Order: sequence, then structure tokens, then C-alpha cells
Amino acid sequence: MFLSSSLLSLLVLGALLATAAPAAAIKQRHDALSQDATGSSGGRRTGSFLQQRGEAKTLPSLEADVRSGRLKATFPWYHTGEEIRSEAKRLVEKCSGTASLRTIKKHGVSIDVVTVKRQEAKPTNRVFILFGEHSRELISPESGIHLLKVLCGEASSGKDSITAAQALEGSEFQLVLNGNPRSRKKVEFGQYCLRENPDGVDLNRNWDERWKASRDPFSEQNPGPRPFSEPETQIFKELVMEYQPTTFLTVHSGTRGMYMPWAFDTQHLASRNQPAMMKILRELDSKHCQCPFGAAGKEVGYACPGTCLDWVYDQLKAPYSFAFEIYTSPSSDDELRDRWEEKVHSGGASLLEAGSHLGHPHFLDLFQDHASDFVQVAERPQESDERKADMGAMECFTMFNPDTKERYDATVQNWAAAYLEMSRLVSQELRHNSTMLA
Ligand SMILES: [Zn+2]
Repeated sequence: MFLSSSLLSLLVLGALLATAAPAAAIKQRHDALSQDATGSSGGRRTGSFLQQRGEAKTLPSLEADVRSGRLKATFPWYHTGEEIRSEAKRLVEKCSGTASLRTIKKHGVSIDVVTVKRQEAKPTNRVFILFGEHSRELISPESGIHLLKVLCGEASSGKDSITAAQALEGSEFQLVLNGNPRSRKKVEFGQYCLRENPDGVDLNRNWDERWKASRDPFSEQNPGPRPFSEPETQIFKELVMEYQPTTFLTVHSGTRGMYMPWAFDTQHLASRNQPAMMKILRELDSKHCQCPFGAAGKEVGYACPGTCLDWVYDQLKAPYSFAFEIYTSPSSDDELRDRWEEKVHSGGASLLEAGSHLGHPHFLDLFQDHASDFVQVAERPQESDERKADMGAMECFTMFNPDTKERYDATVQNWAAAYLEMSRLVSQELRHNSTMLA
């Protein structure tokens, strides 16, 4: 039996309407985007749904943000993406032959990569640091720019810290300073809750390591249609495959913590090089973090697949793979510090010593209240819903980024020194144990 073309059109239209998001949901997405009201963790949502359909461009609030350039007006000490690029260029020139910059372009995305290596040195440690996978975590790239300033002699690493010259004896560096540049631009114009790339994909769930399709296309942890579907992650993959880092680090914010693989697994610890990675984190902790550190993990039933932390460790066999979360708001930070200390002293230290990961039930309530991107737990449902409903743009900003110049300076100085210290500790270990490089 054949259908007339008009009847066929009607049927097709009906099917489309049945599968399209209901009008109420679209309205909700409009509201969410125009207010930048997103949640704080787990299922945090942003305007990706509308952005995919191009509707976001017509929203008046976004246009107003674009005109005002909100970030620079409110927090002038931050760099825009363009300023990160021009700063990197300026510093590379100043580094007189030690540093170089190239730009990788793919499908409309343009990502700068800076390499720093002292010509006469013979470093054992190749350090790759990825800044800014999540665009709202502005402080991550800012700490990268500060690290480059230190490496190129424009800023001091601080007293009691190793100097850039010492670090460059044993390590060379490759830095992606701004990993999500298209979305960062939107954040600079006031969308302070935006985490994903413009396709609505979480770049730290898009790596081909236990990658899982999502049932919720609105989730801000949307892993994308397939592993490495995004131009940004394709560029990262090419870079790390070419560079073959001995130390990989991805830098985030929203809480504080230092993690090593696995992020995806509940039952098993990553066994290769586990004690050596733990030793580095332990040494960094007292001076630079005083925060949860150890093997990432997850509560039973809560997946954290597709992370770069796991992929680089597993696929490239990098001896050291880390993820740092470097900032949260001061009130949250004080509580985190106290709670972590209490956890450590009430049995946590021996658990970690015995090889447990941070997804262990002992630490559960801490990570429920201080959501980490690398320790996935179920949120307390009521609280999380209330928080999501209330979370506005400025609340996002202060959760992920320092809101005073003083806190900004302290954060970038502390972490640039921590990156150098991490590099020195790893290069020492690599020298003592050359089998790791085999
Ligand atoms: Zn992040």
C-alpha cells in the first residue's frame, strides 16, 4: 500500500512532534540558559540543548552579556582567551629559545600548545598539563599562564619552592593553556555555569576509556555521541600520543583534591605504579593542598567513564597520571579541610594506606557535600535539587573561581609551585627507577 505524499508528511510531522522535547521542557531550558541557573555537581545542566539548536544566539540576556564582556568588567585580573593567547606568545618570545608555541586547528577549533624545554638539559620527565577542559573553571588556565610566567623567568616560584631552572633540569613541559576555548568565550560574557563545549559535550567524559553513551542528553556530563567525537578531544589525543608524557596532569576546580587513576572503577585500584603515584601526592599535599588525595573512585552504580586521567594512564602507559582540583569558595574550603582531617584521623589514613580509593563508604558523606569530578557519588537528592534550582551565575563563578585579586594570586602562585614540585619529584623517581620508562 502506498501513502499519498500529504498523508506521509502528516505522519512524519506527527512522529517528529512525538519525539521532540515538550514545549515546557524547551521553556525550562530557555530559562536555565538566560539565568545561567545550573546545579553544582553530578547532573549539573547548562544551555547545551539550546546551543545545539542555535536558539541560544537569539536570547537577549546573552546579547547583553556579549556587549558588556562581564568577566573583564567584574574581575579585570582574569585573562580572556585572546589575552591567554597573546600572553603565551609574549612569554614564549621572552623565554629566549626555551619555549615554543604552535596552534592546532581542527573543525573550527583552534588550540595553542606551548612547549618549554631547556636546550642544554636532558630531562627524564615529559610533563603534559591540560588546563581548562571545563570552561567555567577559569582559574585552571590562569594557573597555567602563571606557570609559564615562572618557567620563563617573569615570576618567582615563591620562597621554599624549587626554581624554574631546577625544574627544567629534570623536566620538560607541554602545556595546553585553554582546552575549551569556544565555551570559555561564552563564560567570559557571563555564562559562568557553562562546563561543556559548544556541542554540549563534557570533554572529560569523551575519551575512549570505558566510554559509555548517556541516556540523558541534557546532562552536563554528556559524553558525546561517541568517544573522541569532539574536535577538542581529538586535538588532545593527538598531542598526548605525539608527546608520550611521563607525567600527565589535568587541572580542574570546584573543589580541592588530588587524584590518580582509576576514575571509572569501583572494585579495583590501578595497580601499575600505584605506590609511586601515591607518594608524589602525599608529598605535595602538606605544602600545597591539605585536601583529599589518592586514587579517584566512585560509589557503586555511579559511573565516571571517559576521563583523560584514565585514558592517558591506560592507553599511553604514562607512569604518572594525575587530576588536580585546585579551588573552591573559602567557606566551602574551610569545611572541606576540617572534614578531610577528621576523615583521615578516623580511619581514612589506614584505609588509603591499605590501598582503598576515595569512593570508599568511609569518605562518602564528604564527597556528597563537596562534589568532585573524579570521585562520583550519589548526591543527597533533596539537597542537590534545591542547590541546582538556586545556583545562579555568580554562585557558579565563586564556586569555581577566586573572586578577589588576593585569592586569585594566592591560588595561581600555590599551584604553579605545586606543578613544578610535582615535576621535580617525578623526575627524581624516574631517574632512580629507569624501568618505568621502558
Ligand atoms: Zn572540571
